[in-house]
Amino acid sequence: MVAAFKELLQKLNPVYVRFETLQTLQVNLGNLCNLACNHCHVGASPQGTRVMDREVMAKIAALLARKSGVTLDITGGCPELNPHFRYLVEATMGLSPRRLLRSNLAIMVEQGMTWLPEFCREQGLIVVASLPCYQEENVDRQRGEGVYARCIAALKRLNALGYGDKLELDLVYNPGGAFIPGSQRDLEAAYREELRARHGIRFNHLYTIANAPLGRFREYLEAKGAFERYLNLLATSFNPDTAGSIMCRTLVSVDWKGFLYNCDFNQAAGLPITGEDGRILKIDDLEEAAREGNELFLAQHCYCCTAGEGSSCTGALT
Ligand code: SF4
Ligand code: SF4
Repeated sequence: MVAAFKELLQKLNPVYVRFETLQTLQVNLGNLCNLACNHCHVGASPQGTRVMDREVMAKIAALLARKSGVTLDITGGCPELNPHFRYLVEATMGLSPRRLLRSNLAIMVEQGMTWLPEFCREQGLIVVASLPCYQEENVDRQRGEGVYARCIAALKRLNALGYGDKLELDLVYNPGGAFIPGSQRDLEAAYREELRARHGIRFNHLYTIANAPLGRFREYLEAKGAFERYLNLLATSFNPDTAGSIMCRTLVSVDWKGFLYNCDFNQAAGLPITGEDGRILKIDDLEEAAREGNELFLAQHCYCCTAGEGSSCTGALT
């Protein structure tokens, strides 16, 4: 029996289960994606129908104009496939000190989308790109046949434009199954060496992110009868040194309809932020949702953030 995550944190230090300050607004543009990866916690695919509209995006831009110093983190699905993606990026230019685009890379070489690398450069976006392994067979097993080759082509294009050098290009590793990531520092060194030697590719940082037992990954675990085992692994790998740094203490996540969550995993779990009156909070209520001292909405999937070195959208926590 896995102990209740929230109580565990609360016992360590009551402030760990409370919001600290807003540093990052993560915006999920929907579940439309050119890929349909095995581990996807949002269950995105080419059949995705949840697509953020301009009205929500305009509110996000207006909010960033009022609140200086907040990082904008754009994710999906494949955010670039949202028909209003360019609008959001252009409308938020100059409004945030760091604007991150989470890209699956393969989209950047798809027909009709090859304008993306230049657009990212023009807009000064930081590209945070998924590459679950430096070995072709592992990437293709998780993401689909031929995806590795497309990712490498996109990385070469980004490098040619100055990404991985003057412009920030970060890679994201996630495990290819029901295990937790190893040392981020060691993996970064291995990626750097292998990608340089095999393809001459450069990047800035590697982030290791643990798979959350949600969405398609949860279905995969359940089909294999491995859900409880994975949750146990996450729980027995609990690292108290990570507990104070869980990203939901400084991040708020927005879904395609403008509803607010403590993180993207909570979106997938259907665990929104509610106000004192029990109402689900929306983008217009950000001040209320991001109030210092607010209690976080934590559940058992949260163990994926505190296992081993810890995990967040910007990698290990220790
Ligand atoms: S993991 Fe990323 S690239 Fe893969 S299906 Fe999900 S959103 Fe798309
Ligand atoms: S899953 Fe989300 S809410 Fe839970 S600890 Fe991680 S960041 Fe916080």
